[in-house]
Amino acid sequence: MSFSDIPVDVGPVYEGERIRANQMFVELGGPKVEKHFELVRVKPESEIEDNKVELIGPNLTEMEEGGRYPIGILVEVGGPQLEEDLEAVFERRIHEFCNYINGVMHLNQRYTNWMRISKQAYEKGLNDLKMLGAVLIRLFKAELPIIKKAQVTLYTDPEKIQEPHAMAMKIYEARDERARGLHDEDVDMFYGCVLCQSFAPTHVCCITPDRTSLCGSINWFDARAAAKVDPKGPIFEVPPGKCLNDLAGEYEGINEMVKKRSLGEIERVYLYSGMEYPHTSCGCFEAIDFFIPETGIGHGIIDRNHPGVAINGLPFSAMANTTGGGKQAPGFNGISIQYIVSPKFQQYDGGINVVVWMGKSVKERIYDLLPEDIRDKIPTEEDVNDLGDLIQWLQEHEHPIVNTPEFQAAVGGAEEEEEEEEYEAEGAMLPMGTMAMTVPGVGGVGGFKVILKNCKIHAESIIIKKIEPKRKKK
Ligand code: SF4
Repeated sequence: MSFSDIPVDVGPVYEGERIRANQMFVELGGPKVEKHFELVRVKPESEIEDNKVELIGPNLTEMEEGGRYPIGILVEVGGPQLEEDLEAVFERRIHEFCNYINGVMHLNQRYTNWMRISKQAYEKGLNDLKMLGAVLIRLFKAELPIIKKAQVTLYTDPEKIQEPHAMAMKIYEARDERARGLHDEDVDMFYGCVLCQSFAPTHVCCITPDRTSLCGSINWFDARAAAKVDPKGPIFEVPPGKCLNDLAGEYEGINEMVKKRSLGEIERVYLYSGMEYPHTSCGCFEAIDFFIPETGIGHGIIDRNHPGVAINGLPFSAMANTTGGGKQAPGFNGISIQYIVSPKFQQYDGGINVVVWMGKSVKERIYDLLPEDIRDKIPTEEDVNDLGDLIQWLQEHEHPIVNTPEFQAAVGGAEEEEEEEEYEAEGAMLPMGTMAMTVPGVGGVGGFKVILKNCKIHAESIIIKKIEPKRKKK
């Protein structure tokens, strides 16, 4: 395989390259552009014109430096052994293959794809988007030899992208719907994926029927098909082994696999918890499930399309920094949208019944699939503006969380804190040698205190303590 006609280098060494806003020539797709997608379709070989690349819309030379444009990437592949189940897995490779190109950065997947072309690459001659299509075709055929023919259509025209975008959204939904009928207890094989280790070396995805991969691209059927055609590839079988904790979704086989694939960094995973031994997150998650300490046990969910901040005052980007990187981050868990409607969704933490806030864009997408008795009790940014409003809304709408001791304690705690502030305003002082602060990474929204005791230069002990409410004075 040769890339001698491409003016920049192409190879796995460029995976992980970052292109910052001031280095980019243009941005394609991403959160500031309305319509964008990437899709792979399997077609009969007779319907594919091998190596054809078509561009519908303006090319890079017609774009303004610093501008943002739509991008649709439709890759059609054919081969005697290909089946529809492989489409999603092939599609996920678009991310990897685009990142092989020096001067191209690709993030996310499906309808959240986000690319940047660097100024340096443009100046070197990467000024024709058809080169991107040509690289994709060569890499698809070289790395996945069961693909015999491939053609690529790229869309950058804001009008002409509408129809293929709508088609892509329907196909994603059909894939998700198929996966919703199957549950973890129905199968005797799970799957793992390490495709994102070039970005997050300790991250490994566990893919089960109830837990579609956090990027949303690979469900259990897709993973099964991928492992079948390439058992030694980045998606592989994981025998679940003994179930150690049914509610938490802890499996011996998952723990062993995660320990091995994360090079010993991660030892235990609770598949159905964002709070204890949570599944790691790379950077590709569709949404974030985040803990809201002011509600005791409540959680919020925000997705990439959310404009502005979530109920905890943080935008998606700030929470994504805490969530991603392949570490376990209790209280911040990268998830797929599909997982939210699984009956196993974070069941160890209380499941959907403790979700007390959702961004409007994610709620609208799954509204019909949410349990009827809870969906209208979960507010969005249109219903509540701050945590005070949220508490009031939950009480007024009789959200199930309001009857929990954790919620009652947390709400009581807020009142008590106000009292404490009054004492402090009157000159009360913290004990000498004790310093309290919010834990970095908990989002700056409180809920924990770090107390450094007898601290001179080195702390003798660090106590991380949940703030419990004190009894109200009569
Ligand atoms: S997010 Fe997970 S499933 Fe998706 S490509 Fe990355 S490692 Fe694979």
